[in-house]
Amino acid sequence: MENEDIPHVVMVPWLAMGHLIPFLELSKCLALKGFLISFISTPKNIEKLPKIPENISSLINLVKIQLPQVDNLPDYAESTIDLPSDKVHYLMKAFDGLQVSLASYLENSVPIPNWIIYDSAAYWLPPIANKLGIPCAYFCLVNAATIAWNGPPSILMGITENPRKTLEDILGVPPWVPFPSKVVYRLHEILRLMKIYNEDNNVTDVPQGYRAGSSVQGADVVFIRSCTEFESDWLQLVEQKICQKPVVPIGLLPPSSARSYDNDNGEIWREISEWLDKQKKESVVYVSIGTEATPTEEEVVELALGLELSQLPFFWVIRNPKSLSGDDSFKLPDGFEDRISVSGQGYICKGWAPQVRILAHPSIGGFLTHCGWNSIIESLGLGRALIMLPFLGEQGLNARMLEERKVGIEIPRDERDGSFTRDSVAKSLRMVIVDDDGEPFRTKAREMIGIFGDRDLHDQYIDKFVRYLQDYKLKET
Ligand code: UDP
Repeated sequence: MENEDIPHVVMVPWLAMGHLIPFLELSKCLALKGFLISFISTPKNIEKLPKIPENISSLINLVKIQLPQVDNLPDYAESTIDLPSDKVHYLMKAFDGLQVSLASYLENSVPIPNWIIYDSAAYWLPPIANKLGIPCAYFCLVNAATIAWNGPPSILMGITENPRKTLEDILGVPPWVPFPSKVVYRLHEILRLMKIYNEDNNVTDVPQGYRAGSSVQGADVVFIRSCTEFESDWLQLVEQKICQKPVVPIGLLPPSSARSYDNDNGEIWREISEWLDKQKKESVVYVSIGTEATPTEEEVVELALGLELSQLPFFWVIRNPKSLSGDDSFKLPDGFEDRISVSGQGYICKGWAPQVRILAHPSIGGFLTHCGWNSIIESLGLGRALIMLPFLGEQGLNARMLEERKVGIEIPRDERDGSFTRDSVAKSLRMVIVDDDGEPFRTKAREMIGIFGDRDLHDQYIDKFVRYLQDYKLKET
């Protein structure tokens, strides 16, 4: 078949691994069905991506784009992984500067794209797609409960009045949610969100709410990484009352295989697995707070000492972004690494770890997670119970939702300042991983494999999704 006959999808994810990975998983699924994919990101992000299997690599075109220069953004920063979370707005500003070059890329693309799939950072893409007559879809990487909490685009964009006026309103269940729900933010999370939003708005000139609202508003359709088996009531609410346009659940997109997450020729894995192989079955806690959150110095200390106090073996992945002045922003307590290395209690991995492979190892007993949606899907797909410590964005909502589903517990934080203690870390860890009282969480998490790890269910969603893309194209021509 000539290239011109192959359906062509352009993917434009935000520059964070938590966005790139599901966009790439989706690209792989579509390439397996014969689609041609142009996957757009910065050179550094593209280098970090998991390997693409050889049988589809010719169908996934990795397109490297150079970010424009922006004041206060060091030239090494091409991804959120390079930056502390409170400096990400500079990267957002650089990303916004891609509008002209992306418009020209799309206009000159051969074959002409049949679809553009983007997420909320590229809120400016729908008008470009419309002008070129290309259907565009917002790929929602959070679950339906989260997008429902955010509310209708017109409210987010400031077009219609927001019924949530006071802090009390914001802390409650949104008025448009018609059923009982515990999916709400805590006070310290709202205070933090407000601070970040104000800083973002000052740097990028685009209110965060406007960005989120218009990316949904401008889309022809919303694809959401969720399934009715997990949250049918939320999905219905999102389609009918929130987005008010077609909302297509495309399934949970579980990672295609643990091995596909390696991009280091297996060397890192050899060293890691040697340590994991020595641990008892289901005894180790895997600890990662993702690629965007930056804990405070006190949080790092309490987390480290809590792990030590729990006396459980742990595997801790530490990301160490540089502050804008180039300093390390992640400082472990004095003597901690020496003690851990002498006792052999833990493995500290600085940098990038093959998370899915580690979670799949039989020695893993649970996951201390920041509750990013990718991490949750990966963990529950393997039946690992959760010890939850949300930091940013929607992570708090995910934690409340999962506590409701009884697949783990949240480490308690002070309601006002969000602080937590080493004792509560240790207690929560022991409860979920070893205590008899924690058995129901472990059982429930194992049951979740039936939804999060079910490949047949996933294939059914992808088949429906592919039909949707193809039929839509037929409707348009
Ligand atoms: N990840 C990984 N190795 C690491 C850190 C993260 O493979 O050392 C992957 C992880 O498996 C997940 C993604 O990066 O797929 C993080 O996404 P998530 O939504 O959990 O969190 P975010 O980083 O967006 O906060």
